[in-house]
Amino acid sequence: MNASTANQIYFRQAADELDLSDTMRSLLLTAKREVQVQVAAELDSGAVATFIGYRVQHNDARGPLKGGLRYHPEVDLDEVRSLAALMTWKTAVVNIPYGGAKGGIALDPATLSTRELERVTRSFVDAIHDLFGPDVDIPAPDMGTSAEVMAWIMNQYGKYRGFAPACVTGKPVEYHGIPGREEATGRGVGIVTLKLLSRLGRAIQGTTVAIQGFGNVGTHTAKFLRDAECRVVAISDASGGYHRADGIDVLEALRYAREHRGRLEGFVGGDRISNVELLALDCDVLIPAALGGVLTAANAEAVQAPIIVEAANSPVTPEADIVFAQKNVTVLPDILANAGGVTASWFEWVQNRQHYQWGVNRVRQELDRILGEAFEQVWQLSSSRQVSLRTAAYMLGVGRVARATVLGGIT
Ligand code: GLU
Repeated sequence: MNASTANQIYFRQAADELDLSDTMRSLLLTAKREVQVQVAAELDSGAVATFIGYRVQHNDARGPLKGGLRYHPEVDLDEVRSLAALMTWKTAVVNIPYGGAKGGIALDPATLSTRELERVTRSFVDAIHDLFGPDVDIPAPDMGTSAEVMAWIMNQYGKYRGFAPACVTGKPVEYHGIPGREEATGRGVGIVTLKLLSRLGRAIQGTTVAIQGFGNVGTHTAKFLRDAECRVVAISDASGGYHRADGIDVLEALRYAREHRGRLEGFVGGDRISNVELLALDCDVLIPAALGGVLTAANAEAVQAPIIVEAANSPVTPEADIVFAQKNVTVLPDILANAGGVTASWFEWVQNRQHYQWGVNRVRQELDRILGEAFEQVWQLSSSRQVSLRTAAYMLGVGRVARATVLGGIT
């Protein structure tokens, strides 16, 4: 099953609960615009490489289009289309005034030098500069992109339109970004995990957590939950997993990764396990924070954790979702669990536009408030309608977009 078909299944479950008309379903499922562009850039060798870049602008009924930019070899139009729709529901679940979009370039950033990545990024901006901007569509980091990439985007955009820091978010703090944005996705994952534990009547202290992925989201999630006195028993990255039943020293792992170009390879603070073994670990909370589609019909039965928090986008396939429902596993869905990133992006955009700085305490406070409110609304809807947290989150998000579509009119 391809990625966008999978998300449409989740959409349909919510649309049925909301009793949406066929007309509204078609309006909400069809992307407003999908572009594919050639991205040609000179390599350090002097040769010219050609890549394919995408931007899918799914829906802007609630505000300007918003969503990350992914650099990964497996990026294709279907994946970007599905991630763009997720952004529409995500911004609506947390009730921030944006629509949803996503972009990407099919490339492996590890094979390019920094200067090559810069040229590729600037070339992509050359190709799409008239399709985005502060009031139109605002890109941000996603898998394989960073604050540095966002700085190049802002700078290149400025060559066409002048100074416009709000044209992109997730920028470096020293270059029109804000403190608190980088940690925000992981912090948000942590906040809603704690809320869920409380709602389920479980103790927080000593809760055992396994986290797949040690990138921006995985590292900040691990740190937040460690600070909240949960026990992080396993972490992993592309080099494999590291398990320690009485708790990984998260600060040590962070230090190790920082000193080894972001990688855990060679980390001795835990027994080596595979990524497959990590997903099946005996723990309280499993947090997939890396690639999509990692929990499938093939491995869902083996999962022992009673709680799964989707820090990555689309880590659970619809087939696995059915297995988890049958096993009574609680799944906290991506469009709520990882919405902290785009929420802090909104704070960055607001501050850029006001030429004003909030400071990190206010950023954290507002983030906690917004995610806390969204979690409560999803929880209440899930209880009152007797639906899963995923269906409740989709109902909240899809319902808000449908309402804005009716209010704004379509002709
Ligand atoms: N890429 C992130 C996401 O999937 C953040 C998007 C944003 O900040 O616009 O939610």
